Amino acid sequence: MKRRNFIKKASATGLGLVAVSSTIISCDETKSSEKKAFVSTSKTKTIKPLVIATWKTDLAVETAAKYLEQGSSALEAVEQGCRIEEANEKGQSVGKGGLPDRDGNVTLDACIMDEKGNYGAVLGVKNIKHVISVARKVMEDTPHVMLVGEGAEKFALEKGFKKENLLTEASKKAWEKWKEKSEYKPIINIENHDTIGMLAIDKKGNISGACTTSGLAYKMAGRVGDSPIIGGGLFVDNEVGGASATGLGEEVLKTVGSFLIVELMRQGKSPQEACEEAIGRIVNKPGKNFKDFQVGYIAVNKQGETGAYSIHEWFSYNLYKNKENKNIKSDFFNKA
Ligand code: ASP
Repeated sequence: MKRRNFIKKASATGLGLVAVSSTIISCDETKSSEKKAFVSTSKTKTIKPLVIATWKTDLAVETAAKYLEQGSSALEAVEQGCRIEEANEKGQSVGKGGLPDRDGNVTLDACIMDEKGNYGAVLGVKNIKHVISVARKVMEDTPHVMLVGEGAEKFALEKGFKKENLLTEASKKAWEKWKEKSEYKPIINIENHDTIGMLAIDKKGNISGACTTSGLAYKMAGRVGDSPIIGGGLFVDNEVGGASATGLGEEVLKTVGSFLIVELMRQGKSPQEACEEAIGRIVNKPGKNFKDFQVGYIAVNKQGETGAYSIHEWFSYNLYKNKENKNIKSDFFNKA
């Protein structure tokens, strides 16, 4: 065996790649049939259409499912599903009504990925409710992948988005109460509602994902979490699957959580195993005190198998499959 061929074979084995076909060895040519050796060739029938989303997001998932059942793309479905939460003023962690930063400004983050691996994101946007749609416009109508702050707002206004005050009376009151002590600490969410991360498989079997949030309540001005960052709050690879995160974004970013989960699935782990390992990477860090913060993941693979796992109890997700939409309690790590 030529040396280069040996190296190729050895590294493929070292990565634990699955479904390696007999054509992988020749590295002098990169025919598309050889590239396919790196992805699952499982003949299992895909469960589709399917939607999975973080937290109790019944209406958002129902909306996405309706789009999919009517034949829309997974991309269209996740955008439309996320818009429901962005418009829901009662939800204080997404879109209008989101809790502000410590200066009283509501700033939104969002990103979207399609089945071709395209990605668009907006970070720290004020005055625009449907940031998920702005993220899609960044992906489709600009040569860039991320727009931030004023530039993102200017772009949104040019694209015809409506300027509006995102701070509701309820969120203003909560911020004023918080200011009395100005204590900042991450909160373990037990209200069963937070950032929405959504993944969908359409009737053609294509996967897309979206994630939208107002970020951590009372964050420092300018703080951005995992939600709009590729590989952090969201990652999709149409040949493998997708993953999305919620919770303390700093911890998700430090472990590149969603990308990690997709890569683990590529290497043969089930979505559930991959989510559990990604949580493990956070909680097993030497000296890490995970008692005070929460992270939750959801994942789906190309066959429509799903997984979810969090550090603490109280994380749930909505799953639409076989024409049923259910809110399901996630398994979790900290059972002490
Ligand atoms: N992950 C989001 C962030 O860190 C917040 C959340 O999911 O609650 O901005």
